[in-house]
Amino acid sequence: WDIIHAQYITSAVRADQYPTPPLIEAAFIGRSNVGKSSLINSLCRRNGLARVSSTPGKTQTINFYGLQAKRTTEGQEERADFYLVDLPGYGFAKTAKTNKDKWSGFISKYLSGSDNLGLVCQLIDIRHKPLDSDIESYHWLLDCGLQVQVILTKADKLSKNAAMAQKALFKRELGLDDSRIMTYSVTQNTMRSELIGRIMTALEG
Ligand code: GDP
Repeated sequence: WDIIHAQYITSAVRADQYPTPPLIEAAFIGRSNVGKSSLINSLCRRNGLARVSSTPGKTQTINFYGLQAKRTTEGQEERADFYLVDLPGYGFAKTAKTNKDKWSGFISKYLSGSDNLGLVCQLIDIRHKPLDSDIESYHWLLDCGLQVQVILTKADKLSKNAAMAQKALFKRELGLDDSRIMTYSVTQNTMRSELIGRIMTALEG
């Protein structure tokens, strides 16, 4: 699979603002500054699609992007449309209280109530140790019955060995197998097709 088209659709803070027609969705969450906008832009190969913000915690709406994926198997071309859903960052200190309220409000409502949500990609900065907020969010998502893909971002900031050690640590802490965790770097871009493959597998399932 490759992503061949991506466009911004709409932003929402309430269910009646979610886009129509409903399509299967892959959502992206993580703490502010984790590299979420950068990863979305890298995935879609569109710089500036999602805002790479200098002010952490700026994105305060649920943003929907319409994506089209394409693959060719044995000469047969197949296309699939889905929504990429960019969720506000959680756990940013400066707006912790407001963020917490929002997380218990429209964001958790979206995550626990969406019939179309096929996968949640939870982004964590590879340089950090597992934080309570990351671990709690992960288990909360599982409790909602959601499929979760953990992505350790900014892998280029560590040596290969240090990155592998961090991956092993998160695997242990969260009880993950290799199909549920991966590293990513927007500067190296080596895991892009792997991530697209994992998203499409989850959405097809
Ligand atoms: P967001 O707040 O989660 O959307 O994070 P951004 O995408 O705005 O990224 C936060 C900062 O991290 C920016 O300065 C990015 O350039 C940087 N960044 C994001 N991804 C990577 C990466 O894979 N490697 C490196 N070296 N920097 C990154």
